[in-house]
Amino acid sequence: MEFATRAIHAGQEPDPVTGAIMTPIYQTSTYVQEAPGKNKGYAYARGKNPTRHALEQCIASLENAKFGLCFSSGMGASDAIIKLLNPGDEVIATHDLYGGAYRMFMQVFARMGIKFHFVDMSQADDIRHRISHKTRMIWVETPTNPMMNIIDIHACATIAREHKLILTVDNTFASPYLQNPLDLDADLVMHSVTKYLGGHSDVVMGAVCTNKEDLHQRLSFIHNSCGATPGPMDSFLVLRGIKTLPVRMERHCFNGKEIAHFLRSQPEVDKVYWPGFEDHKNHLIAKKQMRDFGGMISFTLKGNKLEDAFRVASHTKVFSLAESLGGVESLIGHPATMTHAAIPKAEREKSGVTDSLLRLSVGIEDIKDLTEDLKQALHSK
Ligand SMILES: *Cc1c(COP(=O)(O)O)cnc(C)c1O
Repeated sequence: MEFATRAIHAGQEPDPVTGAIMTPIYQTSTYVQEAPGKNKGYAYARGKNPTRHALEQCIASLENAKFGLCFSSGMGASDAIIKLLNPGDEVIATHDLYGGAYRMFMQVFARMGIKFHFVDMSQADDIRHRISHKTRMIWVETPTNPMMNIIDIHACATIAREHKLILTVDNTFASPYLQNPLDLDADLVMHSVTKYLGGHSDVVMGAVCTNKEDLHQRLSFIHNSCGATPGPMDSFLVLRGIKTLPVRMERHCFNGKEIAHFLRSQPEVDKVYWPGFEDHKNHLIAKKQMRDFGGMISFTLKGNKLEDAFRVASHTKVFSLAESLGGVESLIGHPATMTHAAIPKAEREKSGVTDSLLRLSVGIEDIKDLTEDLKQALHSK
């Protein structure tokens, strides 16, 4: 079946008892057994819950995966993935990584003896120089946050195969509608479901999908043993959110393209970062591995002044000033003082996060209101 049909139906059947078309919210912690050990496949809800199970099947289907697991947050999913490793193992990760992942790697897992190397992966071959006999995993995020760099997933997978490494791709920014890393030979794909999959800024959740049975078995064990599992109500909300993922993404992409070109035409704007521009550094890779370019855009202001960025960010009325992304409503953020505040100025500027950089999560409102809002904010005094 095609993507839009799977988004609505995958993993879901009418309720066998009542015929309810929506998967019920199985708000239960345990299940009654006929005799000790004799149950209907459900024993305790940390291990398995029918609402969550339907969602796991649905997300796996959208990622063309055999297996899927949902976690109580994107970080919960990332945490489980790193727990596949042992002390002494090494990970090579993209240098402009999601800030929360960087914090967890360096402040939690580095203490436990796992070593992380951060590499600019815009040329995938640069990964090779950092591989040692201790390397076990390559961690990719593409497009990256907030610089919208593009990493060649298939090239990374080729390197991972040669050295028997696990390739993990954080597919949060693209969503499965735009990009399917497992089809490009990645081993694991993870999501902050909080963003596009949930889509309505009302749930925090994570997911991991794979086609490798051994990896799935080990992740399932960690999932149940460590317990970062989401509840049935949140699973229901995401099942509902995913039904409109294709129509939402279509509008995110349309609005994103309009806004990217609009920003380029504004005299106050300096650089615009969006992978759909033909002069974007890795535009051809984006074109090859993504179906469209999404609704995430970053831009800088001429003169690169912090106060100008603050002025613009506090004058928008349709774009709300907030962290997060991927919801139906448009958001604006100032990475240097919000998502990337923990990174020293010299370091963040090296990767392009300058004082005037602003990041947009373009929502699905009417494009006329969005461009007019940005125009008045850019002209504000
Ligand atoms: C938000 C985000 C995460 C973390 O997910 P949570 O659901 O907030 O725990 C990981 N990766 C990326 C790219 C994100 O945007």
